[in-house]
Amino acid sequence: MAKEPAIPFPESLCHRCEAARQVKTAASVFILCSALPDKYPRQPVVRCAAFQAKPGSDV
Ligand code: SF4
Repeated sequence: MAKEPAIPFPESLCHRCEAARQVKTAASVFILCSALPDKYPRQPVVRCAAFQAKPGSDV
């Protein structure tokens, strides 16, 4: 069984954002943003005006 690819940049703000979705391929995981015109923001995101905290997020 193939090993799951690692989550990219765990420190990225996107992981705690409602707008982020993970797109998985066999080799990689990409972060897809539904809030910005740039659907694949350069990682890691440390500051973002469109950030929407997920419920329960401590940010
Ligand atoms: S809105 Fe900002 S923080 Fe949220 S997923 Fe998009 S780029 Fe990441």
